[in-house]
Amino acid sequence: MRIKFVAGNWKMNGTLAANQDLLQKLVPQLARIAGVKCAVCAPYVYLAQVQQVLSGSSVAWGAQDISQFDAGAYTGEVSGAMLVEFGCRYTIVGHSERRALYGETSNIVAQKCGAALKAGLTPIVCVGETLAERESGITENVVSGQLDAVITRCGVQSLAHAIIAYEPVWAIGTGKTATPEQAQAVHAYIRSRVAGQDAAIAERVQVLYGGSVKASNAAQLFAMQDIDGGLIGGASLDAGEFVSICQAAGRSS
Ligand code: PEP
Repeated sequence: MRIKFVAGNWKMNGTLAANQDLLQKLVPQLARIAGVKCAVCAPYVYLAQVQQVLSGSSVAWGAQDISQFDAGAYTGEVSGAMLVEFGCRYTIVGHSERRALYGETSNIVAQKCGAALKAGLTPIVCVGETLAERESGITENVVSGQLDAVITRCGVQSLAHAIIAYEPVWAIGTGKTATPEQAQAVHAYIRSRVAGQDAAIAERVQVLYGGSVKASNAAQLFAMQDIDGGLIGGASLDAGEFVSICQAAGRSS
């Protein structure tokens, strides 16, 4: 039985004042929800603030990226060890915005996944196809290529300490959500691909759905057999929406 997990991806949003307000609303409300683990992934510069507000609460936190390197002359980068110092438990790797805007290849994503695991962080590994890829009928090829890069570099056993997020690029920030059936089909495919290498790992790895999840569509998505929660962008900046999404996940457990 996989426990549901919901993570907010704040992206490049927030101010000290807005974060304080959001986190103070989330802490008491998320504490009351059973059957789901919740986390927020904040911009690096706010991790100290997030750590201060969320320490001792039921809400975990993480980063949105990580360097593939341990330390050294990598201007602008942040290492896994640094994230651990700020109490992070998670980091997103391979978000489609990083793949598309910053040239992150599946090979780099796999290296980042390895760096997160080495630091003791749980990587939330994002995979997903563009609209053109879906329309060309190559969704499974794209997703399996992204996943296989991680498995080849880190080993299938590493997925015991990782989370996979299926995020169709065409559904991110567009208001266009995959139908529960469309999402379930890819989630089941991801699980079967992992099962091809290790059935026990496939059974336990959490596969989240991301892409315009809102309070109004979360319950239908989370009711699907292979959807173990969500990676939430825009809606995670609104306390009421994020709490409702976490409640939907808790109810579907
Ligand atoms: C995301 O950024 O991972 C995401 C899913 O965004 P949104 O929920 O806004 O589509």
